[in-house]
Amino acid sequence: MSVLARRDPAVAAIIESEKVRQVETLEMIASENYASAGVLEATGSVFTNKYAEGYPGKRYYAGNVHSDELENLAIDRAKELFGAEHANVQPTSGAEANMAVYLATIEPGATVMGLSLDQGGHLTHGSPVNFSGRFYNFVPYTVDRESEQIDLAAVRTLALECRPKVIVSGYTAYPRAIDFAGFAEVAKEVGAILMTDMSHIAGLVAGGAHASPVPYADIVSTTTHKTLRGPRGGMILSKLEHAEAIDKAVFPGTQGGPHLHSIAGKAVCFGEALTPEFKAYAAKIVANATVLAEALQAGGLRLVSGGTDNHLILVDCNSVNISGLKAQNALQGSGIITNKNTIPYDTRSPFVGSGLRLGTPALTSRGMGADEMKRVAAWICGVLQDPDGDGVRERTRQEVAEFARAYPVPGITDAE
Ligand SMILES: *Cc1c(COP(=O)(O)O)cnc(C)c1O
Repeated sequence: MSVLARRDPAVAAIIESEKVRQVETLEMIASENYASAGVLEATGSVFTNKYAEGYPGKRYYAGNVHSDELENLAIDRAKELFGAEHANVQPTSGAEANMAVYLATIEPGATVMGLSLDQGGHLTHGSPVNFSGRFYNFVPYTVDRESEQIDLAAVRTLALECRPKVIVSGYTAYPRAIDFAGFAEVAKEVGAILMTDMSHIAGLVAGGAHASPVPYADIVSTTTHKTLRGPRGGMILSKLEHAEAIDKAVFPGTQGGPHLHSIAGKAVCFGEALTPEFKAYAAKIVANATVLAEALQAGGLRLVSGGTDNHLILVDCNSVNISGLKAQNALQGSGIITNKNTIPYDTRSPFVGSGLRLGTPALTSRGMGADEMKRVAAWICGVLQDPDGDGVRERTRQEVAEFARAYPVPGITDAE
């Protein structure tokens, strides 16, 4: 029996139930993944206990000899992994990382361009209920109505009109490859800083399965827990020119003491991402998404933009005459965990949405491949064609649970 089970059976029982849920369901939320046992161990380590305000060699407290070793190791690995000139590994989340980037680069009220939120931009790219939308003047660009993809010529026209100080590329629900070189040209032409928020695709970038923004963007923010498979957290990479401003904006600008236990997990994650196995993993995420996309289309579902180049698929649920919310709930009842989403030019409210966002990172972490993607697609199509059918849902739930149990979950049923 674990220490926690003896000392606090209530919390231990909830954690055990969550483990079972993570093993028995198919996790297809595009932003989620399974961290390895090594990442979980480092994140749950005694570094939880330590305060280390400041940076290696310049701390506000004593006792940081090992904190410095740890943070320097994480920084060195991050720079090596992404070929970056500077890395700040202290942001506690993607949102915190973005807040620090804005604080480092612009004054309140400055104009910033980001993708419209209902078309795949993130809350921190100018939502009116987020600090970004309240403190800065966000001017949204949109995807092309026909292709449902970013049209750089339109981005350029808008940039020439509104003269942003920062242009944000990088999204939360965009299934296509991003042309960072093209964005860099536009930013250069209008004298804007190019910020890329690669939160979703960081693992693909690390593994060479998506072009890297690092050579093109002035500043790259990211989470570490999505395709990258690390602990919950954020990171900022930048050109040396912005290094000092970024470091100051993270601490003391927006955060207090760094979460060293998360930084320990980040160091482990970067180490894993530097291996040839991770390269293969990243390629497999994309290959799986491609197979899944084709199978869903063959099953009668329309995909926004007609397919995917990355880990993510956006289904237009209008193709089966239901809302995204209804699709999400029907699939949840079948053990397939997804999230509703708006689609470009959606006519439904964000709380209902016409889209369903699907991702392959977590399933790929369980070792699933093309054959498994086809089975999963068949289940999804079956449930979405008959979302009110109790029989279909219950049958699928049982089949999914039995199927899912056969695939080890890193950190839970797979000790490695
Ligand atoms: C997930 C995400 C974030 C926010 O990350 P949190 O760690 O949840 O704060 C920011 N930007 C993009 C593009 C994301 O996908």
